[in-house]
Amino acid sequence: MEEKLQELKTRLGEIRDLNKAAAVLSWDQQTYMPPGGAAARAEQLATLQKTAHNWFIADEIGELLEALNNDETGWDYDSDEASLVRVVARDYEKARKVPSELVAEFARVTTLAHEAWAKAREQSDFSQFQPHLEKIVELNVRLAEALGYEDRIYDPLLDQFEPEMKTAHVAAIFDDLKAELVPLVKAISERANSVDDSILRQTYEEQKQWDFGVEVIKDFGFDFTRGRQDKSVHPFTTSFSIGDVRLTTRVDPNYLPTALFGTLHECGHGLYEQGISPSLERTSLDDGASLGIHESQSRLWENLVGRSREFWSHYFPRLQAVFPGQLAGVDVETFYRAINRVEPSLIRVEADEVTYNLHIMLRFELENEMLEGKVKIADLPEAWNAGMEANLGIAPPNDALGVLQDVHWSGGMMGYFPTYSLGNLISVQFFDKAKTDIPSLPDQIAAGKFDELLSWLRENIHRHGRKYTPAELVKRVTGNELTATNYVAYIKTKFSDIYGF
Ligand code: ZN
Repeated sequence: MEEKLQELKTRLGEIRDLNKAAAVLSWDQQTYMPPGGAAARAEQLATLQKTAHNWFIADEIGELLEALNNDETGWDYDSDEASLVRVVARDYEKARKVPSELVAEFARVTTLAHEAWAKAREQSDFSQFQPHLEKIVELNVRLAEALGYEDRIYDPLLDQFEPEMKTAHVAAIFDDLKAELVPLVKAISERANSVDDSILRQTYEEQKQWDFGVEVIKDFGFDFTRGRQDKSVHPFTTSFSIGDVRLTTRVDPNYLPTALFGTLHECGHGLYEQGISPSLERTSLDDGASLGIHESQSRLWENLVGRSREFWSHYFPRLQAVFPGQLAGVDVETFYRAINRVEPSLIRVEADEVTYNLHIMLRFELENEMLEGKVKIADLPEAWNAGMEANLGIAPPNDALGVLQDVHWSGGMMGYFPTYSLGNLISVQFFDKAKTDIPSLPDQIAAGKFDELLSWLRENIHRHGRKYTPAELVKRVTGNELTATNYVAYIKTKFSDIYGF
């Protein structure tokens, strides 16, 4: 038994090496690579990914998993060994179901689609992207059929990013959330002028913004001997190993929140990666449990810590000292209200805590309708604009600010968007439990102390890596199922205070 486990681990370790080598190339592509490297880099990445996939779907891996299944071994469910076999068996079963010609066709179609999308967005003309999106929907339908499903065609696509999560469950949670958020946004819109964020829209020196962010994430506990931060156009976090976690951020000299909250957000992802148990290194378990759980960590540090009154009672004097010309005469309450200003807007990535999830729900609904053939792709811009009007009370003036704004569909990804909102909901569930377990947490945050919070996250979430499904992890940590209740209570309390109703 021990011998077979070792053989499985050796094979998975080599596959992991290929995946991580691809991650280094991809990080480089988005940070330092000159444009001339693009074509060769695409080939290099494709070769690594194809090789990793072929090694993984080998019959030998299936035989090892068969021999090591739990009826044979009797390993404890929570052990690293049982978790490894359980999770890898699930990955293996899925990977074997997808024909390699479908994988190749995805790569071909999305390479062209991405170019067409970028051009269509630039010219704000959906019709240029339409035939590509039609193919992408068709490929996702084929992928869903290959993976198989019982209820909704969206289920297996969602499952790629949020294991074991079902479409009907997400839809029910989103319905609850929407019923609360739409009236709340309306109430806030009527009081829009009571919060002013013009102090954030001044010129702030780039290097000073960068340095302030680094100072804060060092306080959070990000370990710069096991990671670094660089600039990229679209901020992201990636990991080459538990000892080498890469954050990226961007700086807008004319808008303070971009770098500041982007840095805190990516640090939340990075702390998760740095906190995975070393015993899981170079196995298939040395990763986050799902995109939703990953996003719960970034949102927790960005919003629940970083946009709180307690946090700024400690850090605002420091920020004022860094930017005296911009902030000397501003009081902390004015700053707190400015960074929490709510405004229905057209672009998802710029949305505030209240409106953000309404952007996601629109995408979730449209993806389902496209896959189920309930909306024609040609009619998508119209459906998009109607949804924006219904959810947020505003309509995009053109396709670039509407249906063409996100990169995900051009990359072939459907089923991804809901994980952003699930992350928001889970962040509050986790944070509520942390506050129960650590009653002095708000005081600690007000003193710029985060070590107890980070230890709590490490113990309860980070160290487990991918051992548990998102539903298992939420249940283990909070004792409850995934729900919108905590998030709604948090949003209502916070924003009725800020907006005075
Ligand atoms: Zn994120």
